Amino acid sequence: EDPQGTILETEGLTKEFRGFVAVSDVALKVRRGTIHGLIGPNGAGKTTCFNLLTKFLPPTRGTIRYDGRDITNMKPAEVARLGLVRSFQISAVFPHLTVLENVRVALQRARGGSFDFWRSETALKGFEPRAMELLEDVGLTAYARHTAGELPYGRKRALEIATTLALEPRMMLLDEPTAGMTHEDVGRIMALVQRVAKGRTVLLVEHNLTVVSGLCDMITVLTRGRVLAEGTYAEVSRNEEVKAAYLGTDPAL
Ligand code: ADP
Repeated sequence: EDPQGTILETEGLTKEFRGFVAVSDVALKVRRGTIHGLIGPNGAGKTTCFNLLTKFLPPTRGTIRYDGRDITNMKPAEVARLGLVRSFQISAVFPHLTVLENVRVALQRARGGSFDFWRSETALKGFEPRAMELLEDVGLTAYARHTAGELPYGRKRALEIATTLALEPRMMLLDEPTAGMTHEDVGRIMALVQRVAKGRTVLLVEHNLTVVSGLCDMITVLTRGRVLAEGTYAEVSRNEEVKAAYLGTDPAL
């Protein structure tokens, strides 16, 4: 395997919903070790792409290769075991458990343990050192004993990233990690993404173009399900078609 090469590649990736083409003939190439942005106006097909890549949805046509394997027909759990992991949605955080307990449960699930965590307190204790490491990675050490439900929103997203890291991903798909955040939280999450991207590959869907320009090595711009442009932020933000697609939707471009 080529350490500098492509880790994820799609060919002709297409998803139709009852005749409506949400993702159309997408050729996406993500290089190992990079932070790759997937951007585009609302309805461009970004979420559908994520669902296809993580096998939450079957493609209508096309192929997906990850780390040298054809994963087109794999199940979500198989893909996750290969290290291609999507950040959990916030609903996957258990609000009544503490922050530490949430990460312990995620670790237990990642290692194939059962879901009924309350029966195996001893087993869970074994995960505590690693759980504390992960909390440190995402800057939540001080919140370890807090109930997850009482965390401020930005910290909840950090916890979500910690529970994703419990799966030891080699490639992480992050779906709008800064959505709905305050300016201060955005800065913290950017630093966090940069930190967790070390030694990994990240595919990032993000609306905030400051975040995109600050984090992404490469960017793929989607509109109406198609790839409109690809390149560095400087390249795609100069692209007239990209500007037109974003016109009126984002003043930053
Ligand atoms: P984005 O994430 O870029 O905003 P989406 O991938 O959510 O875009 O949606 C792309 C298009 O596909 C939208 O027009 C959306 O309405 C449509 N779409 C997404 N999921 C479904 C579905 N399950 N059934 C029908 N249409 C869908």
